[in-house]
Amino acid sequence: MSVSMLLRLAWRQSLIRLLLFYAFALGLGLALGEPWWALGLATLALAARAYWRLYRVLRFLDWRKQLRTVDGQGLWAALETLIHRRQTENRRRSRRLVRLLRAYRQAATAMPDGALVIHRRDGRLVWFNKTARHLLGLRYPQSLGEPLADFFAGQTRVRDWLASGQTDEPLLDLPSPADPMVRISLRLIPYSAREWMVVVRDVTKLMRLEQVRRDFVANVSHELRTPLTVVHGYLDMIEPEEHPELAVMVEEMRRQSQRMTQLVEDLLTLSRLEAQESLPEEPLAMAPMLVTLRREAEALSQGRHEVRVLDEAGCDLTGSTKELHSAFSNLVSNAIRYTPTGGRVTIRFEKVAGGGVRLAVQDTGYGIPEQHLPRITERFYRVSTSRSRESGGTGLGLSIVKHVLSLHQARLDVESEVGRGSTFACVFGPARVRMRSQAGDDLEDVS
Ligand code: ADP
Repeated sequence: MSVSMLLRLAWRQSLIRLLLFYAFALGLGLALGEPWWALGLATLALAARAYWRLYRVLRFLDWRKQLRTVDGQGLWAALETLIHRRQTENRRRSRRLVRLLRAYRQAATAMPDGALVIHRRDGRLVWFNKTARHLLGLRYPQSLGEPLADFFAGQTRVRDWLASGQTDEPLLDLPSPADPMVRISLRLIPYSAREWMVVVRDVTKLMRLEQVRRDFVANVSHELRTPLTVVHGYLDMIEPEEHPELAVMVEEMRRQSQRMTQLVEDLLTLSRLEAQESLPEEPLAMAPMLVTLRREAEALSQGRHEVRVLDEAGCDLTGSTKELHSAFSNLVSNAIRYTPTGGRVTIRFEKVAGGGVRLAVQDTGYGIPEQHLPRITERFYRVSTSRSRESGGTGLGLSIVKHVLSLHQARLDVESEVGRGSTFACVFGPARVRMRSQAGDDLEDVS
């Protein structure tokens, strides 16, 4: 029955019953000769009944008690019916919510990955599942309320990573606090305005596989070095003038063996970089570095391009001179190799907003179609295989650049437009910038 119908019926019933009750009391009073007394007593009886019903309703408004039966008819009964309905509905809803909550909890607990909820402000643990307990050596309930970073004693990068709130970059390959042989990865997920969810994954197997792959590549490359040196040596001993019929063949064999040597060297460089967690922190003077880069560019170009070097930042860097030189050289060599004769290559060292610096290598070459840009730093990824081979590329140059930069907490920005040219920029944070002892000169005048 709808609420309005119920109320209308209740009003009608109450009114009729009230009238009948008073009529009866009046009739009885008249028969006994005391009508006023009878009406007064009837009113008293009504008031007493109203108090009793009110008491009953109030008791049922306490949520722990459930109204089981609705008593009688009329307005009080209607009130009880409405309360009963609301109570039943609420109970059903909260039971459904509890069931849902339990199911979510069970799902989170049964997850093969560890899950934790922590406060964003101080990283204190709010909740964790069974897998997280095993992986991180937590104890329930003692660990609740403890800062998560405290479980990773000696691993300051966990604290830094939590403080930075990086949701897009997981923290890879950490030793588990419960067992250092177990390697774990952490990922931050925005969970609510005040909390983070941290997903913990056991990556021991993955890391072992990765290690096997790295060792395999490094070993193969290493093993190839000796036979290649021998082949190279013998090829060098053949004088094309003495065997004119072999000249073309020998030339091609030399080119190919050189390419293979370069490939092996690049693979070894990559393996070495991958195995490293950090590089030496040395002062890197940028003025001589830019001079060297210009010399290399000119040697590669053989006068086919205009090479410009602009030193505008007026500061130096900290990092590994050897590795950064290799990264910058790779970019310069690419710029020359992928720019047709008559083009221009500009090497610019400049400041960027926020206190960092960037070394940008800009060319007016072929450019790269947009769909290739996200993948060009992958190993052996080439936009045009034939053009890369022709120019002596191994397809590993940009992977090396990316690795070197990530070891310097720097990034590679690439902009390119087909037919107009490309800009590859190594962007360094303020932590990598150091004062230059002498003011930077315009290197166009230096060399
Ligand atoms: P490669 O040895 O083939 O040059 P890299 O890793 O250095 O390998 O570069 C990957 C691919 O990116 C290249 O094959 C080329 O297609 C493209 N590329 C790199 N630098 C440039 C550039 N300056 N202009 C146009 N294309 C480029």
